[in-house]
Amino acid sequence: MSTEAISAAIAQVTARIEAACTAAGRDPQEVTLVVATKTVPLDRTIDAVRAGAVLLGESRVQDIAAKAGTLTALPERPRVHMIGRLQSNKINALLRAGDVVTCVETVDSHALAEALGSRAAAAGRTIDVLVQVNVSGEETKAGAAPDDAVALATAVAVVPGLRLRGLMTIGLNSPDADRVRAGYALLRELRDALLASRAPGTSQATELSMGMSGDLELAIAEGATIVRVGTAILGARPAGG
Ligand SMILES: *Cc1c(COP(=O)(O)O)cnc(C)c1O
Repeated sequence: MSTEAISAAIAQVTARIEAACTAAGRDPQEVTLVVATKTVPLDRTIDAVRAGAVLLGESRVQDIAAKAGTLTALPERPRVHMIGRLQSNKINALLRAGDVVTCVETVDSHALAEALGSRAAAAGRTIDVLVQVNVSGEETKAGAAPDDAVALATAVAVVPGLRLRGLMTIGLNSPDADRVRAGYALLRELRDALLASRAPGTSQATELSMGMSGDLELAIAEGATIVRVGTAILGARPAGG
């Protein structure tokens, strides 16, 4: 896929985001696009950056480590969100990738938050994090149970070295739009409850990262501020990616 083709695909997705915002009476400026370059080789990741992808989503620390040096040197200064499961034994490698990684969207336990925060603080850094919630309850999905999400986020909010920016979820994989949308509504309600708690460290927890290639309109209708889009921009990933 050429830079031109990626650029046209980004324009199409941006148009979808704008149309969804208009339909929801929202300002398109409220929604940030993360281009999921996970599993995409370095050369095509660079093409995506040249095509206008300034915020990338990566799901494996090894891939971030392999891409970080090149990405950091690009004039576009792309940034990376970690959108895959983070194992504690990969935290040091993640931090060594440097400040190209600005946000870990997948914090789903207090232990992981403590481990990430303490090492970030030791490196003199503060990392933005989202708490991942499993709104659909599917067993294969990571994330805190909805009933535990506000308590976990409140605890994460006061971990030194971390800055809690909101909540993230991977939506239900289903053709039933009403059920998918109900999950996104639930994440919004949890975010609202978190903000309403006025607990220490929660005042900046405004982000809702939800919605992907197939359902970003449903997520935006429920208040998504970050959508993570891979396939619709970069084409289908190899099976298992
Ligand atoms: C792969 C991935 C995406 C992008 O999914 P697409 O359907 O390709 O748009 C979004 N979020 C997460 C967490 C992912 O792993």
